[in-house]
Amino acid sequence: MSSSGNWEAVIGLEVHVQLRTRTKMFCGCVNQYGGAMNSQVCPVCLGLPGSLPVPNEEAIRRTIVTGLMLGCRIAPVARFDRKNYFYPDMPKNYQISQFDDPLCAGGTVGLDPFLFPKDLQESDEAKARRSIRLTRIHLEEDVAKSFHYEERSGIDFNRAGTPLMEIVSEADLRTPGEAFAFLGSLRQVLLAGDVSDADMEKGQMRCDVNVSVRPAGQQEFGTKVELKNLNSISGVRRALVYEIARQIAAVEKGEAIQHETRRWDDEAGATFTMRTKEKAHDYRYFPEPDLLPVRTDQGLRSAAEKSLPELPAALQDRLMKENGVTAYQASVLAADRALCGYYEKAAAGTKHKATVANWILNDFLATQPDPATTPIKPEYFGELATLVAEGGINSAQGKKVFAELMANPSSPKALVEKLGLAQISDVGALGVFCDEAIAANPRSVEDYRAGKSNAINALKGFVMKKSQGKANPAQVDEILKAKLSA
Ligand code: ADP
Ligand code: ZN
Ligand code: MG
Repeated sequence: MSSSGNWEAVIGLEVHVQLRTRTKMFCGCVNQYGGAMNSQVCPVCLGLPGSLPVPNEEAIRRTIVTGLMLGCRIAPVARFDRKNYFYPDMPKNYQISQFDDPLCAGGTVGLDPFLFPKDLQESDEAKARRSIRLTRIHLEEDVAKSFHYEERSGIDFNRAGTPLMEIVSEADLRTPGEAFAFLGSLRQVLLAGDVSDADMEKGQMRCDVNVSVRPAGQQEFGTKVELKNLNSISGVRRALVYEIARQIAAVEKGEAIQHETRRWDDEAGATFTMRTKEKAHDYRYFPEPDLLPVRTDQGLRSAAEKSLPELPAALQDRLMKENGVTAYQASVLAADRALCGYYEKAAAGTKHKATVANWILNDFLATQPDPATTPIKPEYFGELATLVAEGGINSAQGKKVFAELMANPSSPKALVEKLGLAQISDVGALGVFCDEAIAANPRSVEDYRAGKSNAINALKGFVMKKSQGKANPAQVDEILKAKLSA
């Protein structure tokens, strides 16, 4: 936003997501990166003449799952098209994609207030809980990956033909913070559906950012610029902050914004012209003649419906209502399903479920645990919460148990004994300490009986010291009062 405050940015994102499937989109090659270059290839994904594509049902199902999670309309019949262009990383000279009849249309991504950048979580834009409309989601094949060396270039076809989902948003976003929250919130849904690992830094989620500016209050959009080469969610935010300021400065100087594609250079912290888009690219789309239309209404859609997860928003609501965790804790748990599963197991064994969330999200998480392999059983946290909440031990002792639990994982009950921490709640034992206190402090006893009720504190202090801090304070108070008024 400009310093003068009378410009508004308009942002739309095109997000490519690599689907986690066993094989590629149209052939049987393994969908896997790394390893020896060009080792996962065949005539289909190398684009050799005469080879024929066979669609990957798992990729189609995962795209439908994504569409259902985001509230899209699922096309009963979807089609594949050829998008024609020439580029060395795509030897067929066309990419199989979807144009007129994509698998999913419409839908929304709700912006999770806790997935805004940390410095904006208390801001009005985060609290607005906006929902961003999607235009469509379609399925296509990825192209190969080019590498540029000093004198030559190389191409790795392991990526060629892997399933790629493109999620296109409406131009509903208004700030860099919202774009950041959009990507985080979308990623959370993709993870929940087990659709993709969606890690931008690993290229599993790639994002093209479209941005324009207009005078606040104007309906019509300004000329958009497309930003490329963004490889982290925070990079998207930085690129937008820079680009919006650049566009505002230009229009304030009376310059027209060029319809162009710009590259973000994270080190320089600036965008640079890549190519201008004077002529719209003509991809000469036409229906892919080698593939039948995809019928989703004959089992594919119902299979997808069966594998729908609990969505992040619903999970957060449930954790807040049933377990009493805070909105922030619910968001952290929903963002990490492994941790959430661990927490739910821990909470199942106690009625003090909010306390378990505190132990796990404050104390345990600080030790950077791997919930899948940690030797600390989730049940231990349920036990610890019950011990502290129901008077067995106080919270300072709870911290000691926690530290011991991290060092020597075993049942907190056993650890309390090992550390000699259990509170003494036995009336007989406490009565003995109280009698000693009364015998050793005649002054305080006299004062108390004369009406100075504070004098009892000296007696309590005596009992606590004698019991090495283990006496149950509430019971000591009760027993002393009874003895003194006898
Ligand atoms: P193109 O024809 O250049 O691919 P589209 O209309 O398909 O453009 O939109 C691509 C993306 O750009 C979408 O996410 C859309 O919401 C966004 N977008 C379109 N127009 C604008 C604009 N004027 N300012 C910002 N984003 C825009
Ligand atoms: Zn192949
Ligand atoms: Mg377009």
